[in-house]
Amino acid sequence: MSAEEWRRRFARVRAAGIEGVLVSGGDVEVLSRAAHDEGLEFHRWIWVLNRNGDAWAKENHPEWFTIARTGKSSLEYPPYVGYYKWVCPTREPVREYLSGIVSDLASDPNIDGVHLDYIRHSDVILPVGLWSKYELVQDREYPEFDFCYCEVCRERFQRETGSDPLKLPDPTQDVAWREFRWNTVTELVIGLADSVHAHDKPITAAVFPTPIIARRLVRQAWDRWPLDAFFPMIYHEFYEEGVSWIGTATAEGVAALSPDTPLYSGLYLPTLQPDELTEGISHALSAGAAGISLFEMGGLTDDHLARLAGSD
Ligand SMILES: [Zn+2]
Repeated sequence: MSAEEWRRRFARVRAAGIEGVLVSGGDVEVLSRAAHDEGLEFHRWIWVLNRNGDAWAKENHPEWFTIARTGKSSLEYPPYVGYYKWVCPTREPVREYLSGIVSDLASDPNIDGVHLDYIRHSDVILPVGLWSKYELVQDREYPEFDFCYCEVCRERFQRETGSDPLKLPDPTQDVAWREFRWNTVTELVIGLADSVHAHDKPITAAVFPTPIIARRLVRQAWDRWPLDAFFPMIYHEFYEEGVSWIGTATAEGVAALSPDTPLYSGLYLPTLQPDELTEGISHALSAGAAGISLFEMGGLTDDHLARLAGSD
């Protein structure tokens, strides 16, 4: 789309009370200028550990990709869907590479902040509302969905605990092994935050809906991360919950974070009629959210925008 068309679209959401956009793809200069012209913050949204779109990494570093408990690489055997190709957060060269990417973004004067997505492992268990779509019953952690058993992870865990995770009596029940996966993702995030903060820019992330669900489904202990704001994806229908659950999940996240860290409840527009959007916003704000975020801009109807403009 032309710069003029972007300005028109950004003006439309700004008028309804939206204060910033998280943007992936496109021309940064054109998009950021259009956003800034219309009074919006412009944050760059990137996929972090899911590197399906990274031809260079796939070509040059196939060993960076995570290994399932079956021994298969997510590069060659992506779980669930063809684009689920993930790199291992434990590996130092991976951390340096990703830090370089976020540092380059943060150094760009057009960009107000860096927004991390897919900053986690592949789902060891999918949200319950998606099981039927994939014809799965994930009542426990099955080996083909359980990552990462690469050499670097196995060696480091063995050095730290004396056990090879592949030889644990039941890897799904081992507390230290579970924490190892949480901690290695967190270590990566700490490095990314340092790289972005070095440029005096904020760094934020889209995370799973609550700290407990995030740990259980995707090895994401996000309430331990040193980020400037969190955007939990409180997509209620994925969890077979009603709209009021937006408040319940928001409250859990707010309680887990320090009081000065804002949480913007992430709402999923395809499952929210305009009146439900109003209800969801009200639940989120009553539960302590600093605001809301919406996935995604293209799904905002005029009716949605009218409801947004009417919410405080
Ligand atoms: Zn690994």
